[in-house]
Amino acid sequence: MTRTTNGPQDEPPRRSRLLRTTTVAGAVVPLCLAGWLGWQAVADHGRDGTAPARAAEAAAPPSGSPAGSSPGAPPASPSAPLPASADAPNGTPDPTAPGTTAPGSASGAASSTASATALAGRTVLLDPGHNPGNAAHTTEINRQVDIGNARKECDTTGTSTNAGYSEAEFTLDVSRRARAILTARGATVVLVQDGDQSWGPCIDARAKAGTTAHADAAVSVHGDGGPPGGSGFHVIMPAKVVAGKADNAAIVAPSNRLGLLLRDSFRTVTGEPYADYIASQGLDTRSDLGGLNLSTVPKVFIECGNMRNSSDAKRMTDPQWRQQAAQGIADALTTFLTTR
Ligand code: ZN
Repeated sequence: MTRTTNGPQDEPPRRSRLLRTTTVAGAVVPLCLAGWLGWQAVADHGRDGTAPARAAEAAAPPSGSPAGSSPGAPPASPSAPLPASADAPNGTPDPTAPGTTAPGSASGAASSTASATALAGRTVLLDPGHNPGNAAHTTEINRQVDIGNARKECDTTGTSTNAGYSEAEFTLDVSRRARAILTARGATVVLVQDGDQSWGPCIDARAKAGTTAHADAAVSVHGDGGPPGGSGFHVIMPAKVVAGKADNAAIVAPSNRLGLLLRDSFRTVTGEPYADYIASQGLDTRSDLGGLNLSTVPKVFIECGNMRNSSDAKRMTDPQWRQQAAQGIADALTTFLTTR
């Protein structure tokens, strides 16, 4: 649905990383570079917010405040799948899949031992990137908001696979699956949006949601819209930003700890490699994301894969893989909240 012409790329690459990649890539440089230049033109337009302003109707705020506390989530076992997804006819995880037991890793230990009360009294904020309704509300999501050190679009349409599976669908599904796992471990889980708002919310509201929820930790779930030749996942941690309304100094260190745990857990559980077209060893640090600049609780982003890459797209459209992705996220949060 949302195509690259609308600039769905919301987490653009660092140029230095790209240049390193193209240098190494040797023979494929011309093709990759040509593709990337087109992609970058889109990316520069769409950092954390996209879609050109074309609609003329007046903006209206999203309905209500962040919603989705889910005390009534399925009473599944800690590693049980989420069976309710309409697009997951086969919700049973492959017992041979990497990470369902995840031996030998700290996050895997959390997966296999977390009890139904392991996270009792703890609150987790999950932030499903974008909103399936954003594409129909370009005026609203193009409104500029203050992220402390800059102003940028309220929200973006997000990217999609070539076949049209949208990032917004992906992020909501993975977040719901992670919520089910975390709830089964005793956590209170709040979703910034749960398919219950017509658009958004804006990135500043997504950050504020963590404060409002008194969250102990937050993860923003995304799928990247990178160059078709690039694949893999990466985690984005906050750089220290003290500017204007932003002051995230207090969350930088704990967010870095969460980011490392998430990087390790996600790779262990999903088998997805680190991104080969952006970041370094699956990690990036940025100061241009409102959701991190304005957060007052430990928070990271994860780009679970590159939806424009055919191999990643195949995985991301597989409900069983999405269950693994959710498991990786939930395990990292569990370890973060139960260890120091
Ligand atoms: Zn995104």
